[in-house]
Amino acid sequence: MTTKNNPDNHKLTLSKEEMQRYGYKIIDHILDHFENQNNKKPVAQASREEMDSLLTEGIPNKPSPANEVLDFVMDQVIPNSNIVSHPKSFSFVPGPSNYISVMADTIATGFNIFSGGWAASPAAAELEIVTMNWLLEIFGFPTKNGGGIFTSGGSMANLTALVTARRIKCGSDFSKATIYLSDQAHSSNIKAIKVIGFKKEQIRIIPTDMEFKISLNKLKNIIARDRLEGLQPFCIIASAGTTNTGTVDPLNEIADICENEDMWFHIDGAYGGAAILASNGKRLLKGIERADSLTVDPHKWFFQPYEIGCLLVKNHNWLSSTFSEKPEYLRDIEGNESEINFYDHGIQLTRRFRALKFYMSLKTFGLDSFRKAITYNINLAEQTETLLRRSILWEITSPATLAIINFRYNPIRQNLSEEELDHINQNISQKIVNSKEALLVTTVLQGQIVLRMCLINPRTTLEDIKNTLNKCEIYAQEQLLEVSGL
Ligand SMILES: *Cc1c(COP(=O)(O)O)cnc(C)c1O
Repeated sequence: MTTKNNPDNHKLTLSKEEMQRYGYKIIDHILDHFENQNNKKPVAQASREEMDSLLTEGIPNKPSPANEVLDFVMDQVIPNSNIVSHPKSFSFVPGPSNYISVMADTIATGFNIFSGGWAASPAAAELEIVTMNWLLEIFGFPTKNGGGIFTSGGSMANLTALVTARRIKCGSDFSKATIYLSDQAHSSNIKAIKVIGFKKEQIRIIPTDMEFKISLNKLKNIIARDRLEGLQPFCIIASAGTTNTGTVDPLNEIADICENEDMWFHIDGAYGGAAILASNGKRLLKGIERADSLTVDPHKWFFQPYEIGCLLVKNHNWLSSTFSEKPEYLRDIEGNESEINFYDHGIQLTRRFRALKFYMSLKTFGLDSFRKAITYNINLAEQTETLLRRSILWEITSPATLAIINFRYNPIRQNLSEEELDHINQNISQKIVNSKEALLVTTVLQGQIVLRMCLINPRTTLEDIKNTLNKCEIYAQEQLLEVSGL
């Protein structure tokens, strides 16, 4: 391509033919990724030194041929990232994604839709309202008064929720306000609490029980004690489910406490919320409709590419009364009240058109396909549990819950010490990750190092899991031989 000597470079343009060739080449790369990712290895590992030597360079003042830059990125940058949509990407929360949404994101970026205010993009705002209404209905929130906003992710949705909760429950003085969450709640909640200026003394981390659910008795006792001390308990954050184990806190009981105590009920459903689309998930999520605010994260289990998170609220006025500011330069575009300016419902002014990918993928595949995919994921984790329970080599630490299962290598009659078990399981993970064949890392539950699988990729098969477990068993055997000195 001619960017090298193009006199129009200062206009940042290419000829139509060049754009076409460039675009098709990129589409071919993406197609190849969708077609062949299963044959690649999901793990990328590189040190800072390696990346420095590969990528560090001075500021490029002069142009370079477009193809050269693209080839460099495709050869050196993209392969040095984990493939989170790989069927053997079991760790953290995988990002299965889908092609329709990838293309929708391309449209949103290609047309550079400003999704901040009604006047700039009425149809984008309307699509955000429409898809938000679908989510409100799915989660049993009122569609008439309820509302919400798409955010960059779950962290931003939690932050938006807590700013709103504080404004509604405490007004401007929150010096005596206290907030409650379990020791299994996601770290983004603590981050948000700190970001909005609460002191450590205002945060109550409540212990969990043997099933990793928030302990209701301890929660009630601490709230009562705080009241006696003249503090203002204003918000409980429940998890549905936790990222570690998929555990859902007792939502109805927490809703009762919030009602009795006039507290805000926030549910962090960033990981597990989508499970409401499966009948066995819906049962576990009973009470989710009683939240004042609910975080869900479409770029996790609604199969969207990054970034899209979502906050739902019972009353959309809570968002507008919290986030509306009226600078002079936005006067002319305020519009009437039914015409929502999403910049008034959250933190961002300029926003990308996130609703589009959610809208297009739901319409194209149909919600029933999402239901089937999520049901498949939940069942797959249960089948994995059955498989592990049948083996004398493995022990279940936390049973399959919302497509997450935690387990460890612990062969019966070997009488290995806790230390040895921790060591072996840590090593299994290290070896499998170093082989790059599967992304399977550990977590810590009740003081034990365990392996954790999060199975929300609808293209992961039981065969993928069996293969990985077989590899794990071989690595473990090798270590046992080393330990026993044979
Ligand atoms: C992933 C996750 C978050 C954070 O969401 P991001 O999209 O990563 O910002 C919050 N809470 C829970 C329970 C999560 O699993």
